Amino acid sequence: MAKKEKLVSETGEISIHTENILPIIKKWLYADHEIFLRELVSNGVDAISKLKHLASLGEYSGDVTGKVTVTFDKDKKEICVKDDGIGMTAEEIKKYINQIAFSGAEEFVAKYKKDDANSGIIGHFGLGFYSGFMVSESVEIHTKSYTGAPAAHWTSDGSTKFTIDASDKKERGTEIILHIDKDNEDFLETGKIREILTKYCRFLPVEVEFDGQIINDTHPTWIKTPSEVKDEEYKDFYQKLHGFGPEPLFWIHLNVDYPFRLTGILYFPKIMHEMDINKGQIQLYCQQVYVSNNVSDILPEFLTLLRGVIDSPDIPLNVSRSFLQSDRNVKKISSHITKKIGDKLNELYNNDRENYEKYWKDISPFVKYGMVTDESFLDRVQDVALLEKTDGGFTSIKEYVEENKESNKGEGDKTIILYTNDKNKQATYLDQVKEKGLKAVILDHLIDNHFISMVERKRSDIKFVRVDSNTVDKLINPNAITVEVNKEQAEVLEKVFKGAINNEKVKISVENLTATDIPGKIIVSEESRRLKEMMRTMTMMQGDKSVDDMFDESTLVVNVNNDLVRKILIMEPTRPELVKELAEHIWDLASMGQAPLNGPRMSAFMKRMNKLMALIS
Ligand code: ADP
Ligand code: MG
Repeated sequence: MAKKEKLVSETGEISIHTENILPIIKKWLYADHEIFLRELVSNGVDAISKLKHLASLGEYSGDVTGKVTVTFDKDKKEICVKDDGIGMTAEEIKKYINQIAFSGAEEFVAKYKKDDANSGIIGHFGLGFYSGFMVSESVEIHTKSYTGAPAAHWTSDGSTKFTIDASDKKERGTEIILHIDKDNEDFLETGKIREILTKYCRFLPVEVEFDGQIINDTHPTWIKTPSEVKDEEYKDFYQKLHGFGPEPLFWIHLNVDYPFRLTGILYFPKIMHEMDINKGQIQLYCQQVYVSNNVSDILPEFLTLLRGVIDSPDIPLNVSRSFLQSDRNVKKISSHITKKIGDKLNELYNNDRENYEKYWKDISPFVKYGMVTDESFLDRVQDVALLEKTDGGFTSIKEYVEENKESNKGEGDKTIILYTNDKNKQATYLDQVKEKGLKAVILDHLIDNHFISMVERKRSDIKFVRVDSNTVDKLINPNAITVEVNKEQAEVLEKVFKGAINNEKVKISVENLTATDIPGKIIVSEESRRLKEMMRTMTMMQGDKSVDDMFDESTLVVNVNNDLVRKILIMEPTRPELVKELAEHIWDLASMGQAPLNGPRMSAFMKRMNKLMALIS
């Protein structure tokens, strides 16, 4: 056994070996090497913004127009990013460049915070400059400070060594020269550099010149005051972002500066049916610098079906993406946007109903998807979600309930919302519903099953019932007392139809239907159909078909008021063979209301039909 030693307590400092950390930064800082251009150009933009800020405070009085220029030389293997901003003194180079992660931008913002918290400075973490080493053997800086201090020249090969000496730079500003290494020579192409600049710098607030042209729009629509932007401009901007195609339906201009900063425009595109295709169309910016087109860690899933831009300096960009969703600002931003979308839909519903109804077909999968997946959104829009009426036009759940409260009062005082998921297939059921003076709506999208159960879970005063789930007299209330059927007649018919159908899973129910022209119809109760649908989705994943039969239970309702059925009753004692065939015929007719008959059954049906016809003539 080891001897018990007393542990001496101690405190100390963990040491970091700088020579190890640079290669790590170089390798892991950013997954995409191409972002070095974004970082260097935005440093140039920062330098110009700072100078403008000083000028606005009267601390500098000179020309401040400002431009960042990117050039390259393929033979010398150089890329150069030049700005005419604030510049740096030799002391400042030592402070800001030589001390990694000591962000001069942060310090500047802190120093001038009282004047203007949002002075438009992009830099934040003090690591951007070093991204240049991801593609370079060595990096040079020539810089001349606005203060008039002597120009300085810094070089480093990305190890911990650097040199500083005098520079012959004459004009104010900074020039960064990257000596591109062997592995990254493909960046030395006009097309490549233009592509990267267009991707990241397209909307930077300061002019960026490359190849003799200004590549950016310094005043993109989303940073403008919403009241000053005309519809045409919103549409043009949409096209700029997403190319030519159908115009957006409508949009939301985001503009918040407290308690977080957020600007942007979110567009509702024309086609929102194919949920997946439209994903990845919202671009994320930070102070007009493009960051990514993946906002799925920031916004709730359903919002990623929208298009446009969001811009917020309050979304942390350097943390692992999995932490983003729990970030407080990100949460606030995401719920703000969700709320804005809900508000917009309410506004359209209340003030522009005509257009709202026009948009509804396009946006309904989106709205329903949002309602199903995001409870706060459901709360916000449940009163303005529309239901398409079978006889044209739209109604909201609220309106449907208000208008049909009395006629559709079901068990437990729930209001029954009658619906069809297939207007053609369920045409006969719909006709009867209409004859009875009841109103049905169409819910035929894939998402509608989820939508229905979500709304029912939320609203205990509502129940959805499909028009074919019961006989029309019992749709609203399954226990409704209908005209009593003669018991002996019912027993006879039950026996006849059981024998003709010969299927354990089909129950027979003899009823007095109001519609005398219907001899028989098949119904599947709302509950068992939903159960079956649920089981089917579950087993589809396992490829098990047996469940499908297991739940194939249905009821054949035989209408004792129908003439053909009356004939069966009359002939039953004397002509059992013919009676059986008539029953089979009624069963086939009823089945056709559900689905087309299969081949053999169809030909048997036709033969029997001919035989019955011959009997009549
Ligand atoms: P950040 O931009 O996040 O502060 P960087 O590593 O990109 O970090 O830059 C570090 C600092 O170096 C900047 O904050 C700034 O003070 C200084 N700097 C970098 N590039 C320039 C430039 N072009 N002109 C003036 N100062 C610069
Ligand atoms: Mg920076």
